[in-house]
Formats: sequence, C-alpha cells, structure tokens
Amino acid sequence: MLLARNDACWCGSEKKYKKCHMEFDKNLAQYKKEGYDIPGHHLILNEQDIVGLRESSKITKAILDQVADLIKPGITTNEINDFVHEYTLDHGGIPATLDYHGFPKSCCTSINEVICHGIPEDRALIEGDIINVDITTIFNGYFSDASRMYLVGEVSDNAKKIVETAKECLKVGMDQVKPYGSVSDIGLAIQAYANSKGYSVVRDFGGHGIGKNFHEDPHVSHFDTGTMGMIMVPGMVFTIEPMINEGTFKLEILEDEWTAVTKDGKLSAQWEHTIVVTEDGYEVLV
Ligand SMILES: [Zn+2]
Repeated sequence: MLLARNDACWCGSEKKYKKCHMEFDKNLAQYKKEGYDIPGHHLILNEQDIVGLRESSKITKAILDQVADLIKPGITTNEINDFVHEYTLDHGGIPATLDYHGFPKSCCTSINEVICHGIPEDRALIEGDIINVDITTIFNGYFSDASRMYLVGEVSDNAKKIVETAKECLKVGMDQVKPYGSVSDIGLAIQAYANSKGYSVVRDFGGHGIGKNFHEDPHVSHFDTGTMGMIMVPGMVFTIEPMINEGTFKLEILEDEWTAVTKDGKLSAQWEHTIVVTEDGYEVLV
C-alpha cells in the first residue's frame, strides 16, 4: 500500500501521512536495504492497544503474585492450575493456553529439568523443587504473557543459582531493547551472560511478538543466530523469556507432545516478561 503525502496515515491517527509516519517508513526502508527485517504495520500497536494490554497484564501479574503464596511442599500443579483458571475467569479473562493447539490446561508448570510447557497434573511439589509457572491471559482480545520461577521450600545452592541467573538473563536481554536496535542484540547479550555464568541457552524456543494474537513476529532468539534480526520500533510488543540449562542446551519432548525436558536431566530455569518498545527504551507490561 503506497500512501501519498496528504493521505491519512496508516496508523489510524487521522493525521496526514507526511505529518505522521512518512519519515518513519522511509527510515525503516533504509534498514531493510541494509539487510534487517522490518516490522509490518500490524506489529506496531497504538496507545489504545497498549491500554488494553496493560489491563490484560494486570490479571497476569496478580496471578503470578498469588501463585507465590500457593507454592509449598504438598500442593499439586493441578491445584495451581485450578487457581489460575478460576482467577482468570472471575476477572473477565480467558486462559490463552487452554485448548491452544490441544494444550489441556490453563497454565504451564515446569519443574526442575522441565524447560517449558509442563502440563499441570497430580504430582505434588516437594521440598527442593524449582518450578516455572507460565501464565497467558486474554482480556478484551489482548494477550499478556509472563512467567516466574518459584522455590519450593529450601532448595540447593545450584538450584538457587540457576534461578537467579535466569532472572538476570531476562534483565540483560531487556537492556538491549531500544528503538532502532535489532532483536538479535537481545540474544547476543543473553547468550554471552549465560555462558559467562556456566549455563547453556535453549535454542528451540524463543520469545515472540504478542498483543492481539498469542504468537506474532518477531521471533526473539535468546542466543546468537548469526542473523541481523528485526528492527525494534516504538509500539512493538513482544516477550523475552530466556531458558537456561545447567548442562546441555539440547532437549527432548515427552510423549504428551508438550513437555520439553533437558536431554541430560539437569536443571533448567526461565523468567519471562511481555514488554512494549517505547520512544526511549521499553516498558514492562507484565
Ligand atoms: Zn501515523
């Protein structure tokens, strides 16, 4: 779609194109020429969308806060799932994972060597476990996605260290987010940091664009893919969700076709935020 200078801008601002996104489009065309991927207009959300995402994010954050109080030896991951499901519905939301490509539950619960996509079940948590709980809420059509690690009672020093380092990896990745940087910088920084602490970075899963859909461009790798990546611009919303392992980065998918576990059975940890790129950096939505 080629707009003339005096046409209404594609962004819905009702301003003339020349006074709105014309310069912006010209800049991006230059990045494209240099070999970067550039975001399609549908990936650039407006202020009204961001307000919607903040509301959705409030539910996701409240769930993650309250899960912290539930986590203790003896509780089953099904009981955690039941809480997530009921809280989401009570607050007008929909759990995005439920029935997503056949996923049977309203959140993911990934314990110890499980990297991600663990399915809640009747296994009770035991002292020393580490667990990731991953929540995605749809509210008024807006998706918000975040996960945290939780310690079950007293855990080993090794477990504590991988949980802390995974959280630091998320921060290191977010520090790379700024307008006209590349998403590939996120993966470079995370991989360098994780490796410096003795951990490997999972390659088979990454962050993703999100907003009006669960999964969108860009794919956000947490390691060096050797590609130039997509240019980040204000209004882009995506997750950063590094998964780091004690041993190999390689994984296996269990027979349930969801649960991803480390190939060597060693520990894995992950933290996740949904962020929006702003004019001077980023805002954590949840
Ligand atoms: Zn515009």
